[in-house]
Amino acid sequence: MSSVRRPLKSLGQNFLVDGNIIEKIIISANIQPDQPVLEIGPGRGALTKHLAKCASRLLLIEFDHALAAFHSNLHRENQRVTVIDADILKISLEDILSETTMKWNVVANLPYNISTEVLFRLYNVHRKLAGMTLMLQKEVGDRLAAPPDCSAYGVTTVLLGLWFEIRKLFVVPPGCFNPSPKVDSVVLSFTPLSAPRAEVGDEDVFRSVVRSSFSMRRKTLNNCLRSSEFSKHIDCGSLLDECAIDGRRRGETLSFEEFAALSRCATEALRTSNKEMVREA
Ligand code: SAM
Repeated sequence: MSSVRRPLKSLGQNFLVDGNIIEKIIISANIQPDQPVLEIGPGRGALTKHLAKCASRLLLIEFDHALAAFHSNLHRENQRVTVIDADILKISLEDILSETTMKWNVVANLPYNISTEVLFRLYNVHRKLAGMTLMLQKEVGDRLAAPPDCSAYGVTTVLLGLWFEIRKLFVVPPGCFNPSPKVDSVVLSFTPLSAPRAEVGDEDVFRSVVRSSFSMRRKTLNNCLRSSEFSKHIDCGSLLDECAIDGRRRGETLSFEEFAALSRCATEALRTSNKEMVREA
């Protein structure tokens, strides 16, 4: 696409211009025949032009109206391509991906200002995904692969880790984009696991346990869990005791298995308290 307008910083528009990196991302995505593909933020089409050739179905979600119109026009004769002119954070991915029962392959060079939020949304539809190849700010990518008890370990590490095998593929330096971002980027592959990494009980409870444990990084679990939604119904002190977890620890020291244990016990406790609430009513 000819550069008709300057890239918008507010939309994280750092367009990929390095042919080698573009090729490596497309090869890594390993698009299978008949596999529907979702690209978030096609921008000027660096990845899109390749995806449009090999995907049996290609869905593009672009928030920049001018770029969405450009793709709609460019692919108007290609029935396999659909452009959605929308904010990825405001639409229901669940509904959009339900057009087929086939699982989607997601490919994206994500806008860095919203990449963590997009990761949460993709996590919420993990059952509809066959795999993802995502470019992220290196710092965000490092978080996904971080071990417990380090500052990078966080909500995305634990949530995405429940359902995906995450591999760091390669680092992409700023010079591969126009305009150049200030930091390195990284391309990661997300392969869905056939079963969650650990039994967590109710997944909504797991999400709540993990989010609240990291809600105040300097505070202890006792404090963090007390501010959670589920603490209205269950005694978090007993919950921690039951899982043999010291409430004076901080959330970032918990292993994946400890989060899973907390979630299982909280799920059970909530079920019990619901039963009691039903009985009382
Ligand atoms: N895929 C292109 C590339 O690799 O050159 C563009 C990547 S650029 C980093 C991010 C793209 O996401 C831009 O085209 C931007 O307009 C789009 N974008 C930003 N915020 C968005 C949002 N909330 N929803 C959908 N697309 C968004």
